[in-house]
Amino acid sequence: MSLYDVPLSTLKGLGKTRCELFSKLHIHSVGELLRFYPRTYSNWGEATPISEVKNGEKCLIKARVTTAFSNARISGGRLLSKAQVADDSGVIELVFFNNKYISSMLKFSEEYYFYGKVVRDLYGFSMTSPEFKKPSDLEAITPVYNLTGGLTNRVVIGAVKQALLMLPDTIKDPLPYDILKRYDLCTLRFALHNIHFPADENALAKAKRRLVFEEFLVLNLGLRMLKNRKLTETSCKMPCDYTEEFISTLPYKLTNAQKNAIVDCINDMKNKKSPMNRLVQGDVGCGKTVVAAAVCYNAVKNGYQSAFMAPTEILATQHYENLTKMFEPFDVKVDILVGSMTKSHKDKVRSRLESGETDIIIGTHALITDATKFKRLGCAITDEQHRFGVDQRSKLAQKGEQPHILVLSATPIPRTLGLIIYGDLDITCINELPPGRQSVKTMLIDTKKRDRALGFIKQEIDNGRQCYIVCPLVEEGELDLESAENYAAELMLKDFSDYPVAILHGKMKSKDKEAVMNSFLNNEISILVSTTVIEVGVDVKNASVIMIENAERFGLSQLHQLRGRVGRGEHKSYCILVSDNHSEDTEKRLSTMCRTSNGFEIADEDLRLRGPGDFFGSRQHGLPQLNIADLSDMESLYQTQEAVSLILEKSPDLSDDSLKGLKAMINLLFKSTDSSTMN
Ligand code: ADP
Ligand code: MG
Repeated sequence: MSLYDVPLSTLKGLGKTRCELFSKLHIHSVGELLRFYPRTYSNWGEATPISEVKNGEKCLIKARVTTAFSNARISGGRLLSKAQVADDSGVIELVFFNNKYISSMLKFSEEYYFYGKVVRDLYGFSMTSPEFKKPSDLEAITPVYNLTGGLTNRVVIGAVKQALLMLPDTIKDPLPYDILKRYDLCTLRFALHNIHFPADENALAKAKRRLVFEEFLVLNLGLRMLKNRKLTETSCKMPCDYTEEFISTLPYKLTNAQKNAIVDCINDMKNKKSPMNRLVQGDVGCGKTVVAAAVCYNAVKNGYQSAFMAPTEILATQHYENLTKMFEPFDVKVDILVGSMTKSHKDKVRSRLESGETDIIIGTHALITDATKFKRLGCAITDEQHRFGVDQRSKLAQKGEQPHILVLSATPIPRTLGLIIYGDLDITCINELPPGRQSVKTMLIDTKKRDRALGFIKQEIDNGRQCYIVCPLVEEGELDLESAENYAAELMLKDFSDYPVAILHGKMKSKDKEAVMNSFLNNEISILVSTTVIEVGVDVKNASVIMIENAERFGLSQLHQLRGRVGRGEHKSYCILVSDNHSEDTEKRLSTMCRTSNGFEIADEDLRLRGPGDFFGSRQHGLPQLNIADLSDMESLYQTQEAVSLILEKSPDLSDDSLKGLKAMINLLFKSTDSSTMN
């Protein structure tokens, strides 16, 4: 029997209440408990020499008791005990209150570790009521677990100790023997024991390396198996290519990169038995929408419906208007479904969709709710994929029978991360911008020069252009409405009293947002003051300046996205980054923006400077939650990618007996997504 089937309540000391607390941490079984790795290990161990302790800081020192305890009664009858301790570098005084036994616990001339806050006064350094341990007690590195209210570290430790005892003598290791050997990895048994209760630092490192490897391997293999969805047949046959008749009606010539992207997609849909599973990645403004439109058109002409999902209503609306225009010459019915529509409106749209009257539906998450049904969905497209999880993408796909999947992404992500995040997709890059685009001139200024910048903006507006100003705000979640509104009000009253200024922020009703966006699009508004809601996709060709306040608070990739809002038409465009942060780091980061307009270069720089955690910020990147592996650990990542290839070479469908355990783990990790594709 698997320990994953053994409920926690079989462990001593875990009654109903405690089991409920564990379940808050998503631990229900003994198996899950064993995979609940410590967050860190107690930091007892590396002592600071007394000569280096700092006033007011918590320190660990290793020192010998050099005097006897002196005891005194102080006000309120409290007992005050003091003694001196020393190491090779200095002396410090220990102070304890109301501890009659302290002199018998801390023996003269013996050595201990002391941990506590150091205070300096006239007489020198002292530590009041420090924790202490004998050095021999310290040899065991103590695990520290993530806890939830009511659950103590001690209880978790007790439970894990029992769980480890339940491990059978020979555990079936999910990693095949040849992989363990090739990469010099320890066994699962060793890893589990030592990740919780490391024998020493070395054993801990070994355990960790193996578990990280295992997690990456499972993740990578899982994504590759998703990709192998190709092994299943699609019923959506699209034998004919209608691309020519579609692009002949466009007001511009497609770039070669756009044409190639369309060809890749059409080939996927036309020739292969398996459904298309493709990512089209290209920098902001390269023209991905028309590629998606061509793909939709092909699906429609072959007798299927297409769905096009965007992360925001503004973007969905814009796509809707765009595609409606593109399909004007054709007998194609385009519709839109977004959350803010009235129920009766939505119902109408949904029934048109279900009856098959609608050919192409554009929308937001509203598309993947249960109420949305298709007559014959043949092609599911998601825009700005990094905003959606793997599971949301597959939810849209499940609205049809193995439909073709196309994912559009503008976020240039570093190649290595791309391999994981999009590991399940074939990739086409659009590496060319439509002709005539000029790169956006980018400059970095501080607030002293803001007035000059505003003067420049006026000049642009007087020449007929429009401008975005991104408010000094961090993120949507932290939106301080008042400050955004105040900021806009000040601009309106002081600097731009003769110009139409409007504000756009995430907390506005969709209707209002749309109204503002529309008037900006129609050039009834000259300056749009906004939060980062304009970040994704919005397309106003006449806008020629974007000024970004507090630029240092944004990631480079985000700045790149924001900058992509201008320079979308024939006008020379400008990006003004405002920052008063003159630290070397910030200036280096922001000057990257001034130096290059290559999204991939910027993404790599962002990754290098800020690490992958920050790279994605609080955003969903669509990956399952990782337990121990860290996406910045490129070395392990590369190793596992090699291992994945080795494994699949031997057993492309993981049917080999030695891979049973791995397969089970893949299903576990992807539980929340569509695991049926992996059986
Ligand atoms: P993104 O790749 O960022 O989604 P869009 O699809 O929004 O870019 O396209 C950006 C702008 O470029 C749109 O206004 C679109 O009409 C225009 N565009 C797309 N392809 C071409 C082209 N081949 N020639 C000229 N303009 C184009
Ligand atoms: Mg786009």
